[in-house]
Amino acid sequence: MVKVTELFGSMVFNEQVMRERLPKDVFTALQCTIKTGKPISSEIADVVASAMKDWAIEKGATHYTHWFHPMTGITAEKHDSFITPADGGVIMKFSGKELIKGEPDASSFPSGGLRSTFEARGYTAWDPTSYAFVKGTVLYIPTAFISYSGQVLDKKTPLLRSMDSISKAALRVLKLFGKTPASVLPAVGPEQEYFLIPIELYKKRPDLIITGRTLFGAKPPKGQELDDHYFGKIKSKVLAYMEDLDAELWKLGIYAKTRHNEVAPAQHELAPIFSTVNIATDHNQLAMAVMKELAAKHGFVCLLHEKPFAGVNGSGKHNNWSLSTSDGENLLEPGKDLKNNMQFMLFLTAVVKAVDEHQDLLRLSVATAGNDHRLGANEAPPAIISIFLGDEITDFYETVTSGKEYSNRVGAKLSTGVESVPVIYEDTTDRNRTSPFAFTGNKFEFRSLGSSLNIACPNIMINAAVADALNEYADKLEKAKDFKKAVVELIKTEYVAHKRIVFNGDNYADAWKAEASRRGLLNLKSTPEALSYYDRKQNVELFDRLKIYTAQEVKARKDILLENYCKIINIEALTMCELTVKQILPAGVEFSTRLADNIQKLTALKIDARAQREVLDTVAALIGDAYEAEQKLSEAQLAIKNESDLQSAADFCHDTVFAAMQELRTYCDRLETLVPKELWPFPSYGDLLLYV
Ligand code: ADP
Ligand code: MG
Repeated sequence: MVKVTELFGSMVFNEQVMRERLPKDVFTALQCTIKTGKPISSEIADVVASAMKDWAIEKGATHYTHWFHPMTGITAEKHDSFITPADGGVIMKFSGKELIKGEPDASSFPSGGLRSTFEARGYTAWDPTSYAFVKGTVLYIPTAFISYSGQVLDKKTPLLRSMDSISKAALRVLKLFGKTPASVLPAVGPEQEYFLIPIELYKKRPDLIITGRTLFGAKPPKGQELDDHYFGKIKSKVLAYMEDLDAELWKLGIYAKTRHNEVAPAQHELAPIFSTVNIATDHNQLAMAVMKELAAKHGFVCLLHEKPFAGVNGSGKHNNWSLSTSDGENLLEPGKDLKNNMQFMLFLTAVVKAVDEHQDLLRLSVATAGNDHRLGANEAPPAIISIFLGDEITDFYETVTSGKEYSNRVGAKLSTGVESVPVIYEDTTDRNRTSPFAFTGNKFEFRSLGSSLNIACPNIMINAAVADALNEYADKLEKAKDFKKAVVELIKTEYVAHKRIVFNGDNYADAWKAEASRRGLLNLKSTPEALSYYDRKQNVELFDRLKIYTAQEVKARKDILLENYCKIINIEALTMCELTVKQILPAGVEFSTRLADNIQKLTALKIDARAQREVLDTVAALIGDAYEAEQKLSEAQLAIKNESDLQSAADFCHDTVFAAMQELRTYCDRLETLVPKELWPFPSYGDLLLYV
């Protein structure tokens, strides 16, 4: 049995490997680059590349790839072997230039019009802050992806820029408190939900294969109503997968920590220990890829879609976010003396302001066709963004803003009533599982993300919004004569200005919708509606101020996302039409023919056939309804191209095409409940979910 401590990071070119394999001066120079972002010289890069190659070859690598996050939401890679011709044979070579810069043909990646196809040039640039690793026979080098003229084409570059912004802003504020750490970094722990279903059944579901979700499917007799799956005993086949997954992730230096069953049948969760946000992003993308790859080995398919099954909980990804100094101080840690912790209160207030002022950016950062099925469906937070602070902190704000003296709360004892069980102290913040953005003691949990999302985008938004708030505070406080007094005043006025965003109650309740609307909060229900806010003036100005995106880059991103939404709806619509015409209607027709034959025979024998007639009537009517709904959907799908721009096309996809899909589905799902199993073309929800 291999020890976990030995397994961990064994496929990663990490600090320990660098120390062992690089000359001391090269190691020091590289560490300096990693920690401070200083550029690396070509001589140093050559030495690093050569050591990296030798190490990778020992680990079984024959190729290397610049691994990047284009705007497709998944990662991209192109493999080049290390071989170079020499004396009629080959030698293995890898230069510093190849390590630092790559030039993939960028023309087929979405650029939102930033680059025409004939200008195919795009460059990948090594991100030394994220370790290279070997997976299979390939050395993966994490990189940023930019166009020939320097425009960002990926998700990593703006993420790194947003980290830089928030670090600078936070350092300004900390300096006023007399602290001067080298940097401040956001840390993230993304909890990843997923489904495992048998691969044999998956292969019989073209909808799952083509779109990642079931477009049809009647509810199974048993779903999640007994709450018997959540944290339930993990079945042995699933456990074997999870064990294998943990081992693979550990090898890649990913801190896989928690595994458990989730709410829905066949649904599970994996949570890592948090790390710096750009590493967490790389690791989450990598983890999702490994989850998918390993599933086949265990006879499963891993579904990362936000809503693979209607009527059953979908999958999300909670983004736990905090801010720590390079000295290890978590700036969102309230400590025991809230009353005297104005530094914490100021950082917290900056988050409250950020969430209030940039509700639209947070909302649109999680907007996808898949996630539209979850938000507001009583399984995930609503589309309305609000913040949960818990009683203690809300109490603090309310007390000080009303001019009263605040006294610290002490966590009450929680007694189990059993003497042998140690007494535990109550946390002073409880959990609120319905809030989109909840303070959970020393971090915020952004809970609106869908399971397949690249976490870069929401974190760019959080970092940018908080950085901007901190800069504004620093501007004010740097000028203050009496700093201590000014901080308290600022916290008070800012809380009053932004308290409308604070909501500690049940976000699923209908009453909240009405209340949120009274408070003037946004409720951007669908992806197209949310995306329409992306290039609002205040957003363009924010990104420009922080040098994260140019106005042109914002517009490009908006267009890519709108187009992506249209494409997904279009593919889903086409798939539904095809499956209806070629498989579902024929199954219905076959059943009605059998029924009609049977009725004829029974009538000839003078046997009562009323029940059969009734079923036949219903089936025939449903076939008619489904046929008409399919025609309507088909026409709607064809009409998408008539829309004049991307926004109106996306709106049309949502309002008309998606609505037509829903209608068609209801008839087909009802038909499924009537047609015999052997005639129905697809495995049922029960087959897919209950027998794993
Ligand atoms: P839950 O109760 O929602 O399952 P946990 O307390 O188990 O949440 O933590 C979930 C995630 O939050 C884990 O990935 C964990 O590493 C991460 N996390 C914990 N502390 C922090 C922090 N200070 N900053 C960022 N993420 C954190
Ligand atoms: Mg959570």
